[in-house]
Amino acid sequence: MNDQYYMNMAIKEAKKAREIGEVPIGAVIVLDDEVISTAYNLREKEQRSIAHAEILAIDKACQELETWRLENATLYVTLEPCPMCAGAIVLSRIKRVVYGAADPKGGCAGTLMNLLQDERFNHQVDVLSGVEAEACGKMLSDFFKELRTRKKK
Ligand SMILES: [Zn+2]
Repeated sequence: MNDQYYMNMAIKEAKKAREIGEVPIGAVIVLDDEVISTAYNLREKEQRSIAHAEILAIDKACQELETWRLENATLYVTLEPCPMCAGAIVLSRIKRVVYGAADPKGGCAGTLMNLLQDERFNHQVDVLSGVEAEACGKMLSDFFKELRTRKKK
């Protein structure tokens, strides 16, 4: 399967987040063309600052594979990873990250900085950005638009 296919799976995860009032962000981890884990943002529901889609997906993948080393895995995520998630990606040795929309307010995979490819770390990650970017971005902007309208009422 190709990157678009797995990104669409991540988008489906993001929609699950939206259904429960979370910021719609979803992630999928794939190894050898097999889906190892899927997750979506649960920060509000769980009131946990670390309950980002990528962290939850990484945690599940480590449990599933019984190793902290996700060396040949690819992580798909609808929004560019924040500093915490980019850190977790580097530390879990993920090989490749594919993300949808760029995040001008927090993106650490090339927008504000590039934690994934800093040669001072002992691991660098291949990055592909902009896959289904429009769909990923629109989900977020629609969510925040709706939130603002609801607040006004
Ligand atoms: Zn994050």
